[in-house]
Parts: sequence; C-alpha cells; structure tokens
Amino acid sequence: MFETIVRYKAPNERSIFEDHHEKWDSALVSAHLLANSKKRVPKLLADLIEERSLSYYIDPILAEFRQGKSFRYENGNLRPWHEDYANELGDPFKRLLEDPGTVNARFLETETIEQIAQDAIEFQETIVYRRLDEHLGKYETLDVSREEAKPDAVIPWAHKLEKDQDYDAFRTIISASKVQATRPLRPVVYTSTAKIGRGKNRTELVNLLSNEDIGECFLLFEDLDKHETNESEYKHIIDFVYDLASVGIDPYFYYGDFFANLLHDFGLKGTAYGTLHGEKYSESIKPKSKSSSSAISSRYYADKVKDFLQIQAVVDTMSRADEPVCDCEFCSRHFENWRDLAELDQADEDEVETALQTVVMKHRILTRWEHARLVEEDEVEDVVENLQTDFKEIASEYRSSQQVASRKELQYMQRWRKAVENRTALLEN
Ligand SMILES: [Zn+2]
Repeated sequence: MFETIVRYKAPNERSIFEDHHEKWDSALVSAHLLANSKKRVPKLLADLIEERSLSYYIDPILAEFRQGKSFRYENGNLRPWHEDYANELGDPFKRLLEDPGTVNARFLETETIEQIAQDAIEFQETIVYRRLDEHLGKYETLDVSREEAKPDAVIPWAHKLEKDQDYDAFRTIISASKVQATRPLRPVVYTSTAKIGRGKNRTELVNLLSNEDIGECFLLFEDLDKHETNESEYKHIIDFVYDLASVGIDPYFYYGDFFANLLHDFGLKGTAYGTLHGEKYSESIKPKSKSSSSAISSRYYADKVKDFLQIQAVVDTMSRADEPVCDCEFCSRHFENWRDLAELDQADEDEVETALQTVVMKHRILTRWEHARLVEEDEVEDVVENLQTDFKEIASEYRSSQQVASRKELQYMQRWRKAVENRTALLEN
C-alpha cells in the first residue's frame, strides 16, 4: 500500500473529507484548525473514524513558530487560530510567544523542550474527544470512546536539523514525546537535500531514529521544488529512503509531489499533500497581512506534466498538443474541451469561481489517488518509462507556451527519471 495522506488546513476543503473519503487513506489535520473548531471538525473526524474506519493524524505545526512572524499579523498580534492553539498548549509555549516571540528548540532549556513536546502530544491524543464531550447536546451520547478518538499515530514537534544543538533538541523531543504518547510516534525528520547529500549525515539520522526505536517517520526536505531540485539531490533522497527502509523504519513524505510516488519501490510508504498545492514546504517568516489571506489563484493539476499550471497555461499547452481533457468524474461533469475550462476560469461570478475551485480540488485529489494505484500496480521502471512518453508528447508545446510561467521548465521529468534509473540497482538486492 502507498498511503495517500491529505492535508486538511481550511474550512473550504471540507467536502473532500466529508464526501470523497474514498479518494484518500488518511487526513492530516492542522492543529490550529482543530484548536479553532468547536464542533464541526472534531465531529467530522469522529464520523470518519466510526463509520468509515479511516485514519487521521494531527500536524502539530510547531515548526511555523521557529522563527519570523508568519503566525502573526503585521501589528504583532497572533493570528486567531494560532492564538487558539497557543492557548490549548498553554505555558511554557504560550509564554515564549510573548517573549521573545518565537519558539525555537535550538535555544531552549531541555525541560522546556520536554514540556512543549509533551503538551503537543497530549493535545493530539485528547483534542477530538474533549471537543466532542464539551459540546455534547443534552440528549446526545458519544459514539466513539476516548481511545477510538485518538489519531492513528502522533507526530512529535518537527524541528529543523541544521546544527549539533538541533540534533540534541530533536533527541529530547523524541524521548519526551515517547514518554507521553500512547500511540505510535511518526516523527518528522526535517532536513535539507544538502544535508543528506553526505552519507555520514544519512547514517547519523538513521541511527538517531533506530536508537529511539522509531518504526515510522515523515521526511521533510525544505524547498524541494521540482523546478529547482537537481538530479543528484533526487538521488540522495532515494538513498535516504532506501537506508531507512533497510533498517525497518517506514518513511513517508510530509509534503510530496509525484516524485514521492516514484520512491514506492525503494521503500517509501506514502506521502502527504494538500487539496490544492501543498506538495512542498518552505519556511515562511513574514507576517500575514489581513487582506492577503483569501486570494487563491485557480490552478489546475495537469496530469500530463504532474504539476500545477495556471489555467490559461493548461488550456494553451494541452490544446496545441491535442491532448484530450481529463475524463475524471469531476472534470467530465464540468467541461468537454479545454476551451470550456478557460471559460469557467474567466467567468467572474463568485459562484462560478467557487465551483471551479471545487472542481479543480476534487480533480486533483482523484488524480493523486490514482497515482498511488499506479506505483502499487506497476514497477517503477515502467512508471518512469510512461513519464518519458508524456514528456516527449508535451515538451515542445510546454516550452513554446507564452502562458507557462518563465521560471518553469519541464526538465524535472527527466531528472526524476534519470535519478530513478540511476538507482534501480538498489532494487536488485
Ligand atoms: Zn479531472
């Protein structure tokens, strides 16, 4: 099985979780969405657990507080959901946000790290049941028990590993989380492709997890952007996944694009991604302005190139290449040809905008679900061969399109293929 884990970050993604639960394996809910939700999200999760026996996890999002001000407004105030979450975690976390303003494990005392790490685990294991219990109607009874309401695994505080002090802090986080947790730990190894480029560093990380008796983990490589990552970085990621799997640790991507799927044969067990985008992570440090939050541009996941493109770019490239439109249940209900998609995009009524966004989101979730089937059923050699066919069929229209953003180029499809082909010898052992 290749686990498809869909990130649940905002209320407008709800229909994916409510109505399309057959298109994903587990939900990865942001801690601050849950902290802010009195009843709706906990109730949805309880229904999923009870009626559909689906799994969920909670993203502790503590890495967001490491530096900068992305969790604040420009005036310095905490954003409301982050504030709700800080209130749930309580001191020392809450106090640290007041002075000095960030929570970076590198600079904290061991006891403080331990306390925050444990508060984050306690939050994950109790929040859903607590909320349901607090908001129980007079004649209602709870259908899930305290145990059943817990996530399938808990995710310790993800701390970015740069210096020696960070490794020490990460060890402290894992040991403290282990003491607190009653569910398996799936810690996030938050590092960079530069770090794992050296075999010595990979071994150190594998040993760190083995020594703590960790059986599964998420991997987070900062700025793993398909348009900027080179072939040798991809090869090192394959090596790292292979190293972990070889010692019995199941790795998952914390954010992943199609490249993650190519790692199935090398031992990757699944990947998380957003309903729209959410395929890579960059640390953001600037404060959010109150007005900028709602503007999400409509982009379409073009399966032919395994990437999001502006709708005009999809229409231009795909029509010139004579590519058929997507025949998934969502697309086929809303457009018959690429021109229809362009028209949907240009309609400026709010309702249509929302509808388009919903179609685009559902199409994307379904496509990624099918990608998981692809690597479960076929050998990776065949998958990259198909990638090569797609590349040849679309490359010239993609390159010549005035609509495709100038920073984008299609070479990543070649880099993925070459990195995988270069490492297939590992699979013969
Ligand atoms: Zn579709």
